[in-house]
Amino acid sequence: MTKPMLPSIADALDAHFTLHRLWEAKDPDAYLREIGPRIRGLATGASHGGTGAALLDRLPNMEIIATYGVGYDNVDVTDAARRGIVVTNTPGVLNDEVADLTLGLLIATLRQIPQADRYLREGRWPAAPFPLSPTLRGRRIGIVGLGRIGKAIAKRLEGFGVDIAYHGRSRQHDVAYPYYPTLIGLAEASDVLIAITPGGAGTKHLIDAAVMKALGPDGVLINVARGSVVDEQALIEALRNGTILAAGLDVFEDEPRVPQELIELDNAVLLPHIASASVHTRKAMGQLLVDNLIAWFDGKGPLSPVAETPWRPAGET
Ligand code: NDP
Repeated sequence: MTKPMLPSIADALDAHFTLHRLWEAKDPDAYLREIGPRIRGLATGASHGGTGAALLDRLPNMEIIATYGVGYDNVDVTDAARRGIVVTNTPGVLNDEVADLTLGLLIATLRQIPQADRYLREGRWPAAPFPLSPTLRGRRIGIVGLGRIGKAIAKRLEGFGVDIAYHGRSRQHDVAYPYYPTLIGLAEASDVLIAITPGGAGTKHLIDAAVMKALGPDGVLINVARGSVVDEQALIEALRNGTILAAGLDVFEDEPRVPQELIELDNAVLLPHIASASVHTRKAMGQLLVDNLIAWFDGKGPLSPVAETPWRPAGET
């Protein structure tokens, strides 16, 4: 384990394996020299600073990297595949939690819930009622990345009686929502964009100044994907000069550092990357990470390998 994880994860791994805690080593270099060749599995998470080549070079018998989270842009999966290392993530078990939080963030941003809370606490209510807010009513919602979580968001949005459309690299034939082959096209046809794609090179700055211009002055951006998906400087400009109305952000380009310019903007609702961060869901994610390692070392194969991983079930090519 590269950094501390939930006690339930460490306890389960301790029960099944010899667990080495890298962060506890006084001299990590000497420690890796001693134990590195014996390490066959790695438990790691998005905020653990990655599993770079420098670390993997020290672990020549590595078989599996089990990551905590569905997004795995922190792991160089191409390099792992080249080394024959299987990578697993924790898909599915967090869909509902992330979708719930996304709806909460959307409504908080539109109805200005944090701003209203601040207003009350600052003792300003007796002097004047809180100003009227924008609304979700009548808004057209564009989902950028209609995957597992995107679909859970869409399902909830249906209950709110709003129009839903989506953009991805390909049309999905099992959904009825209108598909926009270009993101600019979706932005032009939407009053809210919700980003819920993977991070990494393929989606870097997907939402840029041109997309925000297309979203327009009444438009709202919700980013629960990865900070890298949005051009943060362009977003700050767009929020400042009214190119878009407001933003709700759970993720940032250089976490946990958040630009002061964003913090100072009253039309942005900012969360410290908490979309899956409930006790219930983090436990479920931890269990799936542990179950992947147990299944692998029992010879049953990984339970949730990522798409780029070299492993294929017996009989599949
Ligand atoms: P899925 O793989 O099920 O869905 C990803 C979706 O993104 C697919 O519909 C895919 O469609 C689309 N997509 C991928 N690349 C692009 C691209 N270049 N342009 C447009 N669309 C693209 O993943 P999940 O729904 O399980 O998770 C999605 C992501 O949500 C995670 O990878 C992570 O980044 C983020 N996340 C954030 C959390 C948080 O705490 N804020 C918590 C959990 C997840 P297509 O292939 O057709 O392009």
